[in-house]
Parts: sequence; structure tokens; C-alpha cells
Amino acid sequence: MKEKNYDVAVVGAGPAGMMAGIRAAESGAKVILLEKNEKLGKKLLLTGKGRCNLTNAEFDLRKLVENYGPNGKFLFRAFSVFGPKEVIAFFEKLGLNTKIERGKRVFPLSDRVEDVLKALIRCLTQNKVDIVYNAEVMKVDGSNRRIKKLILKEGEMVADNYIFCTGGRSYPLTGSSGDGFKWARSLGHRIKEPSPALVPLKIKEAWVPALQGLSLKNVAITVLQQDKKERREFGECLFTHFGLSGPIVIDISKRVGELLKRGEVKLGLDLKPALDSAKLDERIQRDFKAGQNKSFKNSLADLLPRKLIPVIVKLSRIDPEKKVNNITRLERLGLVKLLKNLEMTPTGLLSFNSAIVTSGGICLEEIDHQTMKSKIVDNLFFAGEIIDVDGPTGGFNLQICWGTGYLAGQSAAEKKVPDTFSQDIHG
Ligand SMILES: Cc1cc2nc3c(=O)[nH]c(=O)nc-3n(C[C@H](O)[C@H](O)[C@H](O)COP(=O)(O)OP(=O)(O)OC[C@H]3O[C@@H](n4cnc5c(N)ncnc54)[C@H](O)[C@@H]3O)c2cc1C
Repeated sequence: MKEKNYDVAVVGAGPAGMMAGIRAAESGAKVILLEKNEKLGKKLLLTGKGRCNLTNAEFDLRKLVENYGPNGKFLFRAFSVFGPKEVIAFFEKLGLNTKIERGKRVFPLSDRVEDVLKALIRCLTQNKVDIVYNAEVMKVDGSNRRIKKLILKEGEMVADNYIFCTGGRSYPLTGSSGDGFKWARSLGHRIKEPSPALVPLKIKEAWVPALQGLSLKNVAITVLQQDKKERREFGECLFTHFGLSGPIVIDISKRVGELLKRGEVKLGLDLKPALDSAKLDERIQRDFKAGQNKSFKNSLADLLPRKLIPVIVKLSRIDPEKKVNNITRLERLGLVKLLKNLEMTPTGLLSFNSAIVTSGGICLEEIDHQTMKSKIVDNLFFAGEIIDVDGPTGGFNLQICWGTGYLAGQSAAEKKVPDTFSQDIHG
């Protein structure tokens, strides 16, 4: 451990910690960044399937925060200071050109997450942030609303201000094991129980594993509870040996998890969202007319992927050998209904090991949204996934890290944060 007097100690070198370290140092603080892994940004390197969906180019901040649900308003101040526009400009200034794809998703032009990490490390070095690897914080020593020191596996560490950026509990192999929640609780903070979010779903129906590996683009999924439609997502879905994955499934998973606590949930997969039931019926009639002598099981090749056909044939309860010109109107309408609403029953979410983010974390009421400063501990700040706010896929979660990391770093670098800054978002 380096024997210097640090103004700011940042714990955890994920995207939030790196950004907090950079901004604190840019603001004039002497900064140390403590990371328990042997390298920085282990989870960052997994993002966007190796391409890193950096942020979302929704530049209207009111619309942007709506993506995070009711807790989104907590982020408004952080995003006014360092929103997607500033994030893109920050990386472009570091030589990382970006591009905007479908759904306003921002990626590095090179499609390489390594380039994002390299840019951040370059910036940490330029700003003289002391990075310590294999520096696992074990305990936090604090009393009377102040942290006195951090106790590491090897040695101790004292700074004026501390920023906890230890992430959530998802993908624990990357280092995010929820340590920051324990320390914050021991210092008097309330923690909203962490749960996996943005995670694949386990499905009850026995026919699902047979479809393992089948990816369906341009489908829509609806979440239902007691026949009440809850949510609809459009895009890509993937069948797996345990159930369903893919972007639209991952985006509904948090809501499914919440609803499952209240009772049975159903999912309705619309295999042909571009056609309403009447149009789909017309289309099927045309296909049946064109191949009148075909058996039912051989008549769906133009309509459905090969792997899905036996499943649909079975679920339709139409005799697979029946010639299509003998199929009754009632049978055909039943088929239309099935294709517009392939029903499945989620039984649970996969664990933290497969969750892209953790929902829950440090309660927002106890963090000043203007500064990211704790309202319980005078020399503590938070940034990133450790905070009780999370978003859908699309770059929204990294945007939390950049925005809150920047604001926490800037605030922690100030010698004393004026009390007038402390305002309750609900006040
Ligand atoms: C597979 C996958 C793909 C993803 N893709 C995207 C994407 O494309 N776009 C997007 O917006 N989001 C994406 N995310 C989410 C995004 O990666 C996270 O929201 C983000 O990494 C959270 O950053 P963080 O800095 O808060 O925490 P983390 O990235 O979890 O970093 C926390 C750091 O703290 C360190 N640490 C923990 N405990 C200690 C300790 N006791 N002592 C010292 N150090 C400690 C850890 O080792 C770790 O390095 C993805 C996530 C996953 C898992």
C-alpha cells in the first residue's frame, strides 16, 4: 500500500470507480483507486458481447431518466452534469470514436470493448491516479458519521473522502460480490434487498428445451398476470435448455421477478407481430391454397423456422398428416391464435451468476442526488451499480456508472461539500 496522504480513495475499479477516480483527480484531488482483481474493468470487458454498449444517445434527459422507472429521477442531476452527450464527447476526446446503432445504442466505432478500457486507463494515468491491484478491502472502520480507515487484506488505508464503487452482486466471478452493501450497512445505511435483474428466465413448458439454440428476431413478448397485460417488448428472443433468454426476455425479467412474488405469471410470445390476426389468417389461407395437397406438418416451412414447426404442430392439436385443404376454419383460427400468443409459464429467474445487473442496493433516500454523498456518513460517496437504480439493456446501465461516477468524483474532490447541497429528492 502506498504511504501517501490521499484526498480520495475509490474502492472498486469498474466503470463507475474508474470514472470517479478520473474526475476526482481532474478536480485537483490526490486519488487512490483500490481494486481487488489483478486488472481493471473485468466486467466492463464482458459488456455488449465484447463491443460495449457505452451509453444510450437519448439526449432528452427527461426521456432518458424515464427508462429507469420510478427511481430514474434520482439520476437527473448526475445526467445533467454528465449525460450521454458528455460521455460521448469524453470518449471522443480520448481518441475513441463512437457510432450510434438501432435503439440509440452507442458503441465504439472499432466494436472493441478493449479500446474503451484502454482509453479509461490512459486517462487515469494522465491524471496521476494511483492504481493498486490485488487490493481487497475487507472491512471499513468508522464511527460518528465518519470513515476512519479501510482495512485491506494487506495493510490499511486512510483518506479524507471515500467513494464506494464495488458494484452489485451479478457475475460475481468478475469481482462484484456485494462487499460494498455489507460495509454500507455496517455504517448505518439501509440496503434495498439486491436481486438479479436483466437475467434469463426459467420456463415450465416441457417443449421449450427442444428449441434450445433457436433465436427468433422480430417477435413480441407480453407479460400477463391474471389475464392483465403488463408489458410488451419487441425484438429478439432466444430459447435455451432451461427457458428463454435474449434481449426482450432480459428486459422483462425484472418485472417478471416482481410479479412472480404475487402469483402465477404467463408470457405470450407473438411470433408474427407485424400481422394482426386477420392478416395472419389470410396469409395462412394463401399458403394452404398454394400447397393444398401438403400435409399440415409440411405446410409451415414458409411461415416458421424449421425447429419450431414440430412444436407448433403439436400444440395446435391439428393432425400432422391432415391435408391442409381439409383443415377446418376453427382449426385454422386456433393456429392463428397460437402463433399470436404462444403461451409460456416462467417459474423463476436465473441467479446472480447470469444477471447482467443487480436491482436493489443503497437506498436512494440516503444519498444526496446533487453530489452522490451519503446522508449518513460525512466522508462517503457512492457511484455505479451499488446504488438502488438500474435500467434496461441499451447502454443505460453504463450511463449510470459514468454519470454517478463523474458526479461522485467531482464532489468528493471538494474539500468540504457545502451542506446546502444536501437536498432530499423527495423534499
Ligand atoms: C455480460 C454483461 C454484459 C453487459 N453489457 C452491458 C452493456 O453493453 N451496456 C451497459 O450499459 N451495461 C452492460 N452491463 C452492465 C454493466 O457492466 C454494469 O452495470 C457495470 O459494470 C457496473 O459498474 P460498476 O463500476 O458499478 O461495478 P462493477 O463493474 O461490478 O465493478 C466493481 C469493481 O469493484 C471491485 N471490488 C468489489 N469488491 C471489492 C473489494 N472488497 N475490494 C476492492 N475492490 C472490490 C470489483 O472487483 C470490480 O472490479 C453488462 C453486464 C454484464 C454482466
